[in-house]
Amino acid sequence: MIVVFKKGTNSDNIEYVRKKLEEYGFKVNISMSGEATIMGALGNESALRDTPLLSLPGVEKVIPILKPYKLVSKDFKNEETVLDIKGVKIGGGNVAVMAGPCSVEGRDMLFAIAERASKAGAKILRGGAFKPRTSPYVFQGLGEEGLKYLREAADEYGMLVITELMDPRDMDLICKYTDIVQIGARNMQNFRLLRELGTIRMPVMLKRGLSATLKEFLMAAEYVAAGGNDEIILCERGIRTFETETRNTLDLSAIPVLKSLTHLPVVADPSHGTGRRDCILPMSQASIAAGADGIMVEVHNCPEEAMSDGDQSILPDDFDILMDRIDIIAKTIGRTLNR
Ligand code: PEP
Ligand code: MN
Repeated sequence: MIVVFKKGTNSDNIEYVRKKLEEYGFKVNISMSGEATIMGALGNESALRDTPLLSLPGVEKVIPILKPYKLVSKDFKNEETVLDIKGVKIGGGNVAVMAGPCSVEGRDMLFAIAERASKAGAKILRGGAFKPRTSPYVFQGLGEEGLKYLREAADEYGMLVITELMDPRDMDLICKYTDIVQIGARNMQNFRLLRELGTIRMPVMLKRGLSATLKEFLMAAEYVAAGGNDEIILCERGIRTFETETRNTLDLSAIPVLKSLTHLPVVADPSHGTGRRDCILPMSQASIAAGADGIMVEVHNCPEEAMSDGDQSILPDDFDILMDRIDIIAKTIGRTLNR
């Protein structure tokens, strides 16, 4: 529910209400809406039977949160969440770029790509060590060896690591090496996995499922938040449509729509979103122009020989151009590309 306070209510009264709600086990968030203070509160409302909120000092009205997602909704928290991951900010006008190969294929290639990506200004190194491949007969990732290379390369070039977790049994292993846990499109509704993510103290990037509505996407994020982890990034990575010229259809309108519904940062992945190298630059530009808080891009130093997703990977030289372009676009709309 949303508790709206009377204009000019003093902070002692607001604190009193907050303490009362927290005593009853509510999760509380306070924000300002114009001149009024509003409080998002989530918990067991029937516990308040004997303490009607309207009788508490300063309370003007109490409005239920009608959306099925609560903690991640704009109703619960009006201002944008800004994640600060070891000094790298995402959200609230801060644009962050995640770049790297689809799969970690070896140490040398990863170091070469990380060097170029960091020089161009990417702060987060991506790379899969456990790959969700359509065929069981193709490269499945290097596993822990790949995670080690990711950590080493990221440390060498002053970057963060993001890598995919597919199975709750690998949680500790992944968390030992990464800074952000990526949940892939195919696992967006793996509710057991989502519940586990609620219990860790590590940011999570949730990718939109191949056929998930935005409501389903936000409900998946709600699973993580409800477990107690509110460091969540949403990633639009294209959805299945009838179109066959592209691998997926990058749903650009999802960016402003999500941002109107949730306080969480929203990033876009034009690589998986289109599956086409020639679309990465225009769709990265479009994503930033549409208000994305960042992008994830697959970069490879020899895409023809990539073990996965070579067709949608760009060369480091093209990544340099992309970074300069999105920097200009971000500045134009009053945002900051942290590079
Ligand atoms: C990835 O980013 O490596 C990936 C597999 O993406 P998605 O889950 O969006 O297909
Ligand atoms: Mn890929």
